[in-house]
Amino acid sequence: MMLKGKTALITGSTSGIGLNIATKLAQNGVNICVNGFGSMEEINKILADIRVIGVKAEYYGADMSKPKEIQSMIHAITREFGSIDILVNNAGIQHVSSIEDFPDDKWDAIIAINLSSSFHTIKHSLAMMKKNNWGRIINIASAHGLVASANKSAYVAAKHGIVGLTKSIALETAEKFITCNAICPGWVKTPLVEKQINDIAAKKNISIDDATVILLSEKQPSLRFVKDSDISDLVIFLCSDAGCSITGTALPIDGGWTAR
Ligand code: NAD
Repeated sequence: MMLKGKTALITGSTSGIGLNIATKLAQNGVNICVNGFGSMEEINKILADIRVIGVKAEYYGADMSKPKEIQSMIHAITREFGSIDILVNNAGIQHVSSIEDFPDDKWDAIIAINLSSSFHTIKHSLAMMKKNNWGRIINIASAHGLVASANKSAYVAAKHGIVGLTKSIALETAEKFITCNAICPGWVKTPLVEKQINDIAAKKNISIDDATVILLSEKQPSLRFVKDSDISDLVIFLCSDAGCSITGTALPIDGGWTAR
């Protein structure tokens, strides 16, 4: 409960990794700003599940591809909560295609959501963190922030970009009690990856189970998915006092993916 009373914004927290991080932060006493897409019914359930833990929770529907909406969201959170102490840049999308066939609008959307949105959230949150002389910025990058795969040019470019952004922000904030780190997960079973498994199954005319084996064995030596809770536990560690000197890093949690 060392984080009790702090406020976190987790972008893309209506699903997958972001939702798990939001829940784990709430269990550590942190007030939660939820962001991401979903039906109002789903979002109200998420808010209710977080509030029952005993912290404040509000929803902000900013589209992370739209800088003006991001700025308005940060201002609204500041009015409601006073500050953002913990910023988790997690919202992300994927598109798989060779570069010749890669649609321009998909490139623009991936760069905007997976990379530029973090520039905007950090830019508008830092003054508050500096004033409070405390802050934690955690960028959910990917193993694809450290190594590449074919047919994921936009995603790999955005994730390498966010690792660079992380280092730059760490240098700009190092003298304050603010840290900025990137977490680089391997495969985690979320809707983002389930779509890729379904696409492999359809393309090769094989079962979902067989497609899963192909997906894991191609990249992840553990042959197991990384658990979303493993990522949340690392977020909590980075937010703790024990994490106060870890800054500017890109930390893989990838079952050995980037050890090859
Ligand atoms: P997910 O599809 O389950 O969740 C993505 C979240 O982002 C959702 O809440 C969605 O509503 C939100 N989102 C998408 N576009 C948005 C927009 N324009 N504005 C606001 N919110 C938007 O995916 P996930 O697997 O939980 O991915 C979360 C992050 O983790 C992403 O950045 C992804 O690149 C990264 N990641 C995932 C894996 C994996 O294997 N699942 C591996 C490495 C990195």
